[in-house]
Amino acid sequence: MASETKTAPKIENTNNHVTHPSMFDAVLARLDVAAKLLGLSEDVAEILRHPQKEVKVSLPIVMDSGKVQVFEGYRTIHSTAIGPSKGGIRYAMDVNDDEVRALSAWMTFKCAIANLPYGGAKGGIKCDPRKMSEGELERLTKAYTTALVDIFGVNKDIPAPDMGTGKREMAWFLNTYSNLVGEHTPGVVTGKPITLGGSRGREAATGRGVMIATLEAMQKTGMNRKTATAAVQGFGNVGSHAVRLIHSKGIKILAISDHTAAFWNEKGIDVEAALKYAHTHGNVLKGFTGGTEITNDELITCKVDVLVPAAIQNVITAANAPRIQAKIIVEGANGPTSAEADKILNDKGILVVPDVLANGGGVTVSYLEWVQNKSGLYWSEEEVNTRADASMGTAFESVWYNAQQYKTSMRIGSYITALKKLDKAIKYRGVY
Ligand code: NAD
Repeated sequence: MASETKTAPKIENTNNHVTHPSMFDAVLARLDVAAKLLGLSEDVAEILRHPQKEVKVSLPIVMDSGKVQVFEGYRTIHSTAIGPSKGGIRYAMDVNDDEVRALSAWMTFKCAIANLPYGGAKGGIKCDPRKMSEGELERLTKAYTTALVDIFGVNKDIPAPDMGTGKREMAWFLNTYSNLVGEHTPGVVTGKPITLGGSRGREAATGRGVMIATLEAMQKTGMNRKTATAAVQGFGNVGSHAVRLIHSKGIKILAISDHTAAFWNEKGIDVEAALKYAHTHGNVLKGFTGGTEITNDELITCKVDVLVPAAIQNVITAANAPRIQAKIIVEGANGPTSAEADKILNDKGILVVPDVLANGGGVTVSYLEWVQNKSGLYWSEEEVNTRADASMGTAFESVWYNAQQYKTSMRIGSYITALKKLDKAIKYRGVY
């Protein structure tokens, strides 16, 4: 296999301490490896190394206490070479310019791999949604939409849910945007409630895509799903649907987790019971009695055939990668594996289905939602799922093909798949 990683440069911070390489540097490290293997022109690579537009806003909100608190909001458009930019909005305490930049670039690659007519973007607000009331979150979402109204648009930049946001926030976004532009504009945001023009199948779409990617990877490696086992980290939108759907295909789930707890059950977690427990306990697993409590690190390294990190970034690192026992890793989360860990996993012969492919089911159904909003015709869940599953299958095959063709990992193969399309789009448009 070709060399997987180029170590990202260490960054000196203002106190002259060496800090962890940035997430965006990790994207660039992989981009450079893929660009070299592909023989991509330096001009195109240089364009893709720079996000097109980055905006940071300050959002003052009256909290329930009556005090004003100012939050940081971000939106980065990495590329519109293929079409209007698409990317979720994340609410989390570690949201920062570097993270949003990296996530926006991944969206560019993800949309190209999934064959969608979109570029890539990402947004976020540095906040802890779990510690805020519904009213505070509504005011914050409406302030964010208002501050960035000129960035968004049905044919410009279309957000969607990500970590810490869901259909509720998308409905607030839609309401504010439509009020500001003076007309109902459902296509400006995806992941909406169905009554407001959301698509059937969108809520489970990312987890469903993870399930399809898991089955494809098992088929390529000759793994029997009737005897296979899996562990899934994260029990939110992506993780809980991935657990449910992977389990529905006959794969035994041995470990699950969220930010409050992790559980192991050698006989198999009772998935229905876990889903019901989380549903009735504030969407968390703490207190679930269907397994032995383990740590999240133990989950990452536990003895299973398939590991699905579906929570946060950088959970598979050089520190735990040597101890990973799974044969296949399907990245439900964005950026769960560090660039250094990639090389270790590769050397161990673990098949990693990269995030830009594995979690592309969400943006694929977001695209189908946008198409339905534009046409005014709405499809059944079955029709949406059929289209999305076929699209995931095609994307998997193109990445697999490029990985084989260039004798590299699926991660670098996925970048190559995207770069081939981006190269054409940028050249057809021309640079002035
Ligand atoms: P979510 O907010 O619905 O759920 C996140 C889950 O991760 C929760 O169960 C939370 O408890 C858990 N978690 C948080 N910190 C953790 C920790 N330290 N250890 C273990 N678990 C932890 O978010 P989501 O929408 O499911 O997104 C999860 C990941 O998938 C993110 O990386 C996101 O960018 C990515 N993603 C989401 C979508 C989507 O459609 N929602 C699409 C593509 C990619």
